[in-house]
Amino acid sequence: MIQLSLESRKALVTGAGRGIGEEIARTLAQQGAHVVCVSRTAANCERVAQSIHDQGGSAEAMAVDVTDRVAVKGACEDMLSRLGGIDILINNAGITRDALTIRMSHEDWDDVIQTNLTSAFLWTKSLLYAMVQKRWGRIISISSVIGKIGNAGQANYAAAKAGLIGFTKSVAREVASRGVCVNAIAPGFIETDMTRSIHEKWAAEFIKMIPMKRIGSVRDIASLTAFLCSDAAAYMTGQVLTVDGGMTM
Ligand code: NDP
Repeated sequence: MIQLSLESRKALVTGAGRGIGEEIARTLAQQGAHVVCVSRTAANCERVAQSIHDQGGSAEAMAVDVTDRVAVKGACEDMLSRLGGIDILINNAGITRDALTIRMSHEDWDDVIQTNLTSAFLWTKSLLYAMVQKRWGRIISISSVIGKIGNAGQANYAAAKAGLIGFTKSVAREVASRGVCVNAIAPGFIETDMTRSIHEKWAAEFIKMIPMKRIGSVRDIASLTAFLCSDAAAYMTGQVLTVDGGMTM
């Protein structure tokens, strides 16, 4: 029988206050995991954790700025002592600060690299040892098709998302023999607050490039994430799985 249950697993999802991270948190909880919902804004992660709880799941909220090295280390130490570690880490928190390279500010470069890439290193560094000791773990980072193909106006975002792919493959090689699987997901155009802000005209142009002729849903990403976290995906590591309706086939 295929084993998809996450019963007795403890998961931490960054950027769980909205969008893709919220749906991943809900889906992992539906599969039986206890989910630590992390976002920058307390009200957002608290709303998601409460609603998982109201639906019979197990969750808690933790407002942490993922770019704050000290705060991330403190949060991980708290979880290691209180929960005995985290089995599943989802590096999902992300932002965009788009501009053509010639006009991009140093601040916009740094903010995007810190939030989308350095944060994954910070959480992984603090939580990996306990996974290795337990001989079981899953780390999934939400990259982007932009990290594979680039995009004018998104050099910072593309660099961060491509960096996540190199990070994933390297960590995967380091811990493959210890039962820890490290993978990345590269979503295409998914309907969330991040993409809702794109002008309707541009959204229509994007859809023309998608063979499936629709924008993806958060569920499309969450279902693959849950599969990768399960025992059914125990022989997959160092992979980048693209979910984009065929856009970059
Ligand atoms: P949203 O903008 O809808 O949500 C982003 C989440 O990240 C929020 O919960 C936000 O917290 C959190 N976050 C941002 N910065 C920080 C920070 N410094 N500390 C803690 N939490 C933070 O984004 P999406 O759901 O659309 O995107 C999720 C991930 O998927 C991102 O990494 C994105 O790059 C990636 N992605 C998205 C695509 C899309 O089309 N939507 C396509 C490809 C990849 P708060 O709620 O408190 O603001």
